[in-house]
Amino acid sequence: MPLSLIELRDVSITYGEGNGAVLAVDSLNLTVEEGEFVCLLGPSGCGKSTALKAIAGLIPIHSGTSVFGPAAQNPSDRFVVWQEATLMPWRTILRNVTYPLELKKVDRATAREKAMKQLEALGIAEFADKYPRQLSGGMRQRAGIARALVADPNVLLMDEPFAALDAQTRRLLQEQLLQLWNEVRKTV
Ligand code: ADP
Ligand code: MG
Repeated sequence: MPLSLIELRDVSITYGEGNGAVLAVDSLNLTVEEGEFVCLLGPSGCGKSTALKAIAGLIPIHSGTSVFGPAAQNPSDRFVVWQEATLMPWRTILRNVTYPLELKKVDRATAREKAMKQLEALGIAEFADKYPRQLSGGMRQRAGIARALVADPNVLLMDEPFAALDAQTRRLLQEQLLQLWNEVRKTV
């Protein structure tokens, strides 16, 4: 059988030790195939963020196994979009979005072109030269998603990416995200 992109088997994750230990994830089984859009649903505190951080490779798992297929093998294949866009305040929106390409040593003109394309796709191209503080939360979140798409990871991990937005913007971005997913078929 071909390897799934992400496979968690009986994964448990604990914070702390001894009496104060919190079992945050208890025997999680999860299989994600390439190109799938998978949502973890559950009340707050049930361990969604913890599971996502483990999948991102940011925290260790304490028992069970996690196996990644070739397309998700490298931690840089898995890019996280957090609840609040973690933009760098001293860089313009454009230069926040080109950042992953700078890290990959992509030349400036190409990086700019790719970033502008994503900013356009997300409807915020006209704010390219503004700073994050000059944008609304919804626009910052779009910029965060544009940056993730520019990074072009095989796996896009999102932790309640629209939770901090008003209901209308959230709905709009949810629809846009599904549309984008239809076009690019990333694993989300
Ligand atoms: P969710 O994202 O589903 O709301 P979390 O994964 O954030 O849930 O949290 C799962 C459990 O782990 C909760 O009981 C939470 O209090 C606890 N927890 C989360 N992060 C930490 C941490 N850094 N240290 C200790 N406990 C934590
Ligand atoms: Mg959470």
